[in-house]
Amino acid sequence: MAHAVYPGSFDPLTLGHIDIIRRIQPILGEVTLLISSNPSKKSLFTPDERKMLAEEALRGLKGVNVAVHEGLTVDYLKEAGARVIVRGLRAVSDYEYELVMANMNKKLSPNIETMIVFASPEFYYVSSNTVKEVALNGGTVKDLVPPNVAKALKTKFADHLRELRARQAPLSTPQKKGKSRD
Ligand code: ADP
Repeated sequence: MAHAVYPGSFDPLTLGHIDIIRRIQPILGEVTLLISSNPSKKSLFTPDERKMLAEEALRGLKGVNVAVHEGLTVDYLKEAGARVIVRGLRAVSDYEYELVMANMNKKLSPNIETMIVFASPEFYYVSSNTVKEVALNGGTVKDLVPPNVAKALKTKFADHLRELRARQAPLSTPQKKGKSRD
């Protein structure tokens, strides 16, 4: 059995990510969800928050652990003695990025292989970015992320949502009859 590393931002973890992990763990054995900590990339959740959310959501899945890493993914794999990087592929739009990453990692470390796993049809449209967009505007994300992530998104956006609803309220208040000057 291999030790596979599934790297990404996971800002935040979605059901699409969990689906990939559930599918590859029985085949590959040990899977590390590797949260990239990139100080120059803006993220909603801090690396530690993302780690805590992922650990909570993945608790109970055997052979799965979560780590945070700053720097090259291949350096983490070398340190951990792992040889497989797993990435997910949704639409064609993911393809070019994944191809470049896989080739760059191969150049940096020829012994490490990247394995691409296709997204399940029910999750192919799910991304951390769209989930954040929906949550920011008060939409429901319960079918897109685990419950603890849905709760964390609600908390993060609570102030924004209060302001949004206050702005929307006057627009949705029905006009009383007879008060109109028109
Ligand atoms: P990154 O910023 O590295 O793209 P993400 O957290 O967005 O990190 O994604 C990590 C990996 O998971 C990527 O390979 C991405 O293509 C894949 N992925 C994201 N969403 C899904 C999904 N819904 N189904 C399958 N794979 C996904």
